[in-house]
Amino acid sequence: MQATKDFKVTLTKESKLKGITLENVPFGKYFTDHMLVADYADGQWQTPEILPYQPLQLDPSLAVLHYGQAIFEGIKAYKLADGSVQIFRPYDNFKRFNLSAVRMQMPEVPEEIFMGGLRTLIGIDKNWVPGFENHSLYIRPFMISSDNAIGVRPSEHYKFLIILSPTGPYYAKPMRIHVEEKYVRAVPGGIGFAKAAGNYGAALYPSAEAHKEGYDQVLWMDAFEHKYVQECGTMNAFFIIGDKVVTPGLEEGTILAGVTRDSVITVLKEMGWDVEERPLSIDEIIAAHKSGNLKEIFGTGTAATIALIKELCYKDYPMVFDVSTWKIAPEVKRRMDDIRYGITEDKHNWLWPV
Ligand SMILES: *Cc1c(COP(=O)(O)O)cnc(C)c1O
Repeated sequence: MQATKDFKVTLTKESKLKGITLENVPFGKYFTDHMLVADYADGQWQTPEILPYQPLQLDPSLAVLHYGQAIFEGIKAYKLADGSVQIFRPYDNFKRFNLSAVRMQMPEVPEEIFMGGLRTLIGIDKNWVPGFENHSLYIRPFMISSDNAIGVRPSEHYKFLIILSPTGPYYAKPMRIHVEEKYVRAVPGGIGFAKAAGNYGAALYPSAEAHKEGYDQVLWMDAFEHKYVQECGTMNAFFIIGDKVVTPGLEEGTILAGVTRDSVITVLKEMGWDVEERPLSIDEIIAAHKSGNLKEIFGTGTAATIALIKELCYKDYPMVFDVSTWKIAPEVKRRMDDIRYGITEDKHNWLWPV
């Protein structure tokens, strides 16, 4: 796809890349030379600009700072052996971004700006995509409300931005997870399905409480009974029970519809697994554990792809696993990596060339 909308491009005089080694670069530490900024004003999107990466100037009355209309996405691009740069399923993120926008009473971002902007910006900063094994370019599109006024109402101005950050391998170490029974992440009718900044802000305190007890993350449960599984921290949760894979369904609107979740479901089905998207109760998980049927548990998301769960603790009942014996989750991860790095055929057209 070609960008059909014009971008106003101002290139940096000197690349910052000279002083930086991209091998094993830590997540989110460096940003590339350029960023994209598009302003929404007078009821429409103005011509997007690609500019040298730089601070934003914020008036203290900036609406987002007060009322939190803020949404974002997380996407990765990979450098393949043939030197090409491919973005993993960005169109799914584009659609999800606009679902988040509608729920937060923000304007939808047109395809030319989101998709065209992504490809134009990455094209300009292509040298920042690390070519080392398991490295990638993390892409962060986001939007904020930008009226300078503190009345509570939807803004008339918005800013859509894309920034890029080169990323080294993310070794997701097996996690200890606590089943959260006090705090909740999402309720039906709420904003759980939206990638809204506030969901993250609200999760920091419960996560910190879990850390104090020695856990890496919490397993979010439904808000009414604390009985049905929602998500694991900021990852979607998968349970292998007997000869089936179970993951909570999306119909309640309390779960973020992960692109990795959808990809993993597809890959599992290709491996011959029955994948059930349905309500999953903690009672069913415990019963499966007691009968020896709970085989593997893992979380999925763009950052780690798959993170194994070596312990799930419910009240004072810990379910502990020897993840070194697991076969299924590691196989799914390998297949996902092989598609992303162009090692196996991309049958589903998940890769979008820059
Ligand atoms: C982003 C996110 C995920 C994972 O989504 P991906 O598209 O797979 O990266 C899962 N849960 C929450 C709450 C998220 O914000």
